[in-house]
Amino acid sequence: MTRQRLRWSVWALIALVGVFVLGLMSVHFALPGSTVALWWPAAGLAVCFLLATDPGPRRSALFVLGVLVSSGAANLVGGRPALVSVLYGFANAAEVAVVHGLMTTRARRPRLGSMDDLWRLLAATLAGAVVIGVLAGLTASVVLGGDFLDSASAAASSHGAAVLVMAPLGIAAGLRRVRRPRLEDIAQWVVVVGVTAWVFHQDQSLPLAFLPIPGLVWGALRLGLRTVAMQLLVVGIVAVTLTSLGGGPFAAAGRLGGIRPETVGSLTQAFLATAAVTTLSLAVATTQRRTALADLRSEVELSGVVLDTAASAIIVVDLAGVIARLNTTAARLLGAPEEELVGRLAAEVFPVANPEEVTARMAGIAGGTVPLHQEQDWLVEGLGVRHIVWTNAYLTDDDGNRTHLVKTGADVTDERAARTFVEAVLEAATATAIIGTDLDGVITLFNRGAETVLGWRASEVVGVRDWSLLHDPAEVDRRAAELEIEPGFDVLVHRVRGGAATETRDWTYVRKDGSRRTVSLTMSGIRDEGGMLTGYLGVAEDVTRRRQAEIALQVALDRERQAVEELTALDRTKSDFVSAVSHELRTPLASVLGYSEMLEDGAAGPLTERQLELVSRVDRNGRRLLSLIEDLLLNSRIEAGRLELEPRRCDLSDVVASAWTSVATVTSQRDLVRDVDVSPRPLWVEGDPAALERMVTNLLSNAVKFTPDGGRVSLVARPHDRDPGTVCLTVSDSGMGIPPADHERVFARFFRSSAANERAIQGSGLGLSIVRAIAEGHGGSVSLESAPDAGSTFTVTLPVGLPTTLSRQAP
Ligand code: ADP
Repeated sequence: MTRQRLRWSVWALIALVGVFVLGLMSVHFALPGSTVALWWPAAGLAVCFLLATDPGPRRSALFVLGVLVSSGAANLVGGRPALVSVLYGFANAAEVAVVHGLMTTRARRPRLGSMDDLWRLLAATLAGAVVIGVLAGLTASVVLGGDFLDSASAAASSHGAAVLVMAPLGIAAGLRRVRRPRLEDIAQWVVVVGVTAWVFHQDQSLPLAFLPIPGLVWGALRLGLRTVAMQLLVVGIVAVTLTSLGGGPFAAAGRLGGIRPETVGSLTQAFLATAAVTTLSLAVATTQRRTALADLRSEVELSGVVLDTAASAIIVVDLAGVIARLNTTAARLLGAPEEELVGRLAAEVFPVANPEEVTARMAGIAGGTVPLHQEQDWLVEGLGVRHIVWTNAYLTDDDGNRTHLVKTGADVTDERAARTFVEAVLEAATATAIIGTDLDGVITLFNRGAETVLGWRASEVVGVRDWSLLHDPAEVDRRAAELEIEPGFDVLVHRVRGGAATETRDWTYVRKDGSRRTVSLTMSGIRDEGGMLTGYLGVAEDVTRRRQAEIALQVALDRERQAVEELTALDRTKSDFVSAVSHELRTPLASVLGYSEMLEDGAAGPLTERQLELVSRVDRNGRRLLSLIEDLLLNSRIEAGRLELEPRRCDLSDVVASAWTSVATVTSQRDLVRDVDVSPRPLWVEGDPAALERMVTNLLSNAVKFTPDGGRVSLVARPHDRDPGTVCLTVSDSGMGIPPADHERVFARFFRSSAANERAIQGSGLGLSIVRAIAEGHGGSVSLESAPDAGSTFTVTLPVGLPTTLSRQAP
C-alpha cells in the first residue's frame, strides 16, 4: 500500500467513526415519538468525504460498505432493534452510493463551477433522498409499524438536506481559497452565525426563519463557494441542534400549532434546503460571472496587444465614416496618436489625394457596398508615398445589421519596388534563359530569355508544364545512371538538394519545335529566410555555337597534329636519304680527288701547263663538293641529335693552321690580303680536332666568299684577354657585311641572304649552323659583329678545359 493510500484509509476510518458518532447523535436527538431522526448529517459527512477525496470506484465501494457498518452500528447503539439498524445501515449506504455515483458518472471529477454542476448536485441529492426515503419508509412501516409516507418523507428530507448542506463542502475542499479583506470575512461570519443562533435560540418563537438568508447571500456574492459551503454546514448544525432543543420558529410552531414532530423536522430540512439552493446558486453564478469577466478582460487585453503588435494597419470605422478604433501601425501611418484620431472622420484624416472618394466609400458601409479589396496611395509624412493594400470586413450586430467596417491594410511599397526591380532584371536577360521551379519541378518562372531559347511562351508553361518538357529524356536517363538515382527532376537538382550551392553543366534543351540546343545550365536552390529550400532556379546560356566551334577547333587541331607527324616522318626520311646519299658520294669523290692529285703530282707522266690547270680545277671543284657533302653529313647528325664529338687534348693553333691550308687552294685564286695571327704558344683545348677544323674552315670560306677582290681576310687565335680559361678565335673580313636584322638568322639552317643569292655566291646555307653546333658542342659560343658593307667579324670562344657536355643535342 502506498503512503497516499494509507493516508486515505486513515482518513476514511476517521470519517466512518464520524458517521458513527453523528448517526448516534442523530438517533439520540430524534424528536420524541419519531421513527426517524430529525437530521442525518452522517449521510452528508459520508458523501462529503467521498467527494473531497474522489478515490476511484474500488475504494469508494469499500467506503460505502464502511458506511453500511457504521450507520447500522450507530442505530444499534442508539437503541434501535437490530434488524432495523441493519436495514437503516443498508439504506444509508445505498444513498451514499447513489449520490456519489451520480456526481462522478463517466469518471468526471465532482465540480461546482456552473449551473449545470449545481443541477447535477441537486439531482444527485434528490435521487439519494428518494432512495433513503423509500428504504427507510419501508423499514419503518414494515418492521416498526409506522406510517410509510411520514417516515419516508422525514428520512428523505433529513438526509437530503444533510447531503445538500455538506456535499458542497466536499467539492469546495479542492478549491483555492480566494483572498478577501479579513474584516468583511469576520463581519459576515458573525452576522450569519449570530443571526441564525438568535433566530433559533430557545426563547425565540417569532417566525424569523428567513433572517439568516441575507447573511448567507452576502457570503455567496462576496466570499466564494468555500465559505458558503462551510456556513451552510454551520447554519445547518445550529438550526437543527437548536430546533431539536425546542428553540426557533419550527419548534415553536410544533408547540403552539400541534404539528407533528416529523413535520417540524421536515420544515427545518426545507429551511436548510432552501438556504442551500439559494446560496449555492448565487455563489455558483457569482463565481461564473467572475471567471467570465476575467476571461473577457484577458481577451480584451489580448486582442489589444494583438492589434498593436500587428504589422498591418487596422482601422475600425463606423457607419458615419468616423474612426472608432485603430492600432499603433495605423496611427503611425496617419501621423498622430490614437486618442487624436478616434472620433474623427476617416475622409478627413486619410492622407489620400481625393478624400471625396473615401467619403463615398464610407457611405456604403451600411449597404455593404464597400469593396473587400482595395489599393490606395497614402502620402505619409517622412515616408513619402506608400502603397497600401486594404482588406475590408464588416462588423454586424445581433440582428445582422452592419455596424462597422474593419479595414486591414498592408504597406506593400517596398515589396512592389523590389518585385518590379527583379522583374526588370529577369526580363532584361533576353539571351539567358532563367527558369524557376517549385520543389517538384513545376515551372514557376519563365523569363524572356527562356522564351527565346526554348520557343515556348511563359503563359504556356508556367504552372502548367514541368521541367521535363524542356530536357532531352535520353540525356536525363544517362545522367540518372551516372548518379545512380531514378530518372526524374531530381537528376537536375541532385547536387543542390544535397547541399551544393550551385551546379553547372551542359544539358540539351528541346525547343518547342523539337530542335535541340546545348545550354550551360547553372542550377541553384531558392531558400526562404529560415534557410528552407522552397524551389530551384536554373540559369541557362545557349552555348550550341560555342560548343560546335570548340568541336571544330578540336578536329582542326587533331588534323594539324597528324600533318605535323606526317611531315616529321617525311623530314626524317629525307634526312636519312641525304645522309645515305652523302655517304655514297664521299667514296667516289675521294677517289676522284686522289687521282687528280696523282695526275698533278705527275704519276701518269708530266702534264702540260694546260693539263695541269684543268686537273687543278677538277681538284678545286672536287674539294668544294666534298666540303658540301661533309656539311650535309654533319647537318644530318646534328638534326638527329648525334653530333658525336670525339674530344681530346689538342692545340687549337694546329687546327687553325690546317684549316687555313685547306682553304688556301680557294684563297690563292683570289686577290685578297690575308692576315693570320695565331698565338705562338700552343692553345690547348679539349676538343674534337676534325670538328673544330670544320668550324674554322666554314668561317674562313665564308669570309673569302663574301669579300670582293681587294679586300682583307684575317684570322686571329689567342687566349682570351680577360678570361684565362677561354681561348678566342676571330675570323673577320672587310666584305659585304650582314644587316643587323639577319644577325641571328644567319645561324639558322639553310638560311642564305638574298644578297648571297642575287650575286650567285655559292653555298648551301648550312655553314654557320654547323659552326654554332660545334662551338656549343664544345661548351663555347659564337658571336657576330657586322654591318652592311663594313665587313663581318665572327668570334668563337672555347673553354680551355673539358666542357661539361660534349655531345650537344641538336634542337
Ligand atoms: P652559305 O655560306 O653556304 O650561304 P652559311 O650558313 O655559311 O651558308 O652562311 C649563311 C649566310 O650568312 C650566307 O648566305 C651569307 O649571306 C651570310 N654570311 C656568312 N658569312 C658571311 C660573311 N663573312 N660576310 C657576309 N655574309 C656572310
